[in-house]
Amino acid sequence: MSYDSPLTDYGKRLRERLGGRAQKLSIDAHLGCPNRDGTLSYGGCTFCLGDAFSPAYCRAARSITEQIDFGIAFHTRRRRTASNYIAYFQVGTNTYAPIEQLERLYNEALSHPAISGIIIGTRPDCISSEKLDLLEYLAHKKYVAVEYGIESVYDSTLRRINRHHDFATAREAVSQTKERNIDCGAHFILGLPGESRDDIVEATAQINALGIDTIKFHQLQIYRSTPLVELWHDHPEEFLFGSNFGVDSYVELLIDILRRLDANIAVERIASSSPRHLTEYSPLGGIRPDILRQRLVERMNSLNVGQGDMLIR
Ligand code: SF4
Repeated sequence: MSYDSPLTDYGKRLRERLGGRAQKLSIDAHLGCPNRDGTLSYGGCTFCLGDAFSPAYCRAARSITEQIDFGIAFHTRRRRTASNYIAYFQVGTNTYAPIEQLERLYNEALSHPAISGIIIGTRPDCISSEKLDLLEYLAHKKYVAVEYGIESVYDSTLRRINRHHDFATAREAVSQTKERNIDCGAHFILGLPGESRDDIVEATAQINALGIDTIKFHQLQIYRSTPLVELWHDHPEEFLFGSNFGVDSYVELLIDILRRLDANIAVERIASSSPRHLTEYSPLGGIRPDILRQRLVERMNSLNVGQGDMLIR
């Protein structure tokens, strides 16, 4: 870790894995979600706004190949060319289908000549030995990673947000994935209802114990038409990100987490952005994630602190 880079950088990690700059292309494989189709519940996670986050090129009617072609064209128009493209199965639960269907979808992406690998976003309770065997097999051909939405290490929070899985399930999913030597990432939301600042910072010990390779942190945003809106208005005291919480407080929170986070874990995201018209409340206003990251790095450098320098286990 250099003075200029107080965080373990995900882009650098991916470049090392692939031998050049990589651009992720979001894919909607139309696989749905058991927490919305009635298998687990109909309501979904209380913070979730369905597919609000898919880029325009990622349309349900398009095949995987078409989405890849549209995605490359989309990024090329924005001068974001890369030597490697990764098909990122992002929308919904991308291991929630029979194995034959998954194999066909993953192979369609991997056989595209521009694609160097796939990243599979899914829930920790939607993985199995059979599915991991498939991913392990594919990982011998091209780059493969799995990204689990874990969101919180606290079962009380997971129940409250209607996740329908517990943290032990997430631990087991990561462990089985790493046993097969597949790169494994996790996604956590900071500021979920009922979690204090201390709860969030102390959770880093359990995150370190998972053995993940990469991590994404997102600030809780309250999206319109989600069940969280009512709780947000009726019980604002349940939320860390109240009216006094802004960008500076978020940067300080991130620093407290990152100093405790294992430096072997590459940090892919520290916040999310979302369309303003869908957002009831965001603690960070409209700040762009890259500007936020720059502020974080500058602040860490000014304090002369770095990821993992207060490691907790
Ligand atoms: S966050 Fe994921 S698991 Fe939860 S409802 Fe949305 S798509 Fe389903």
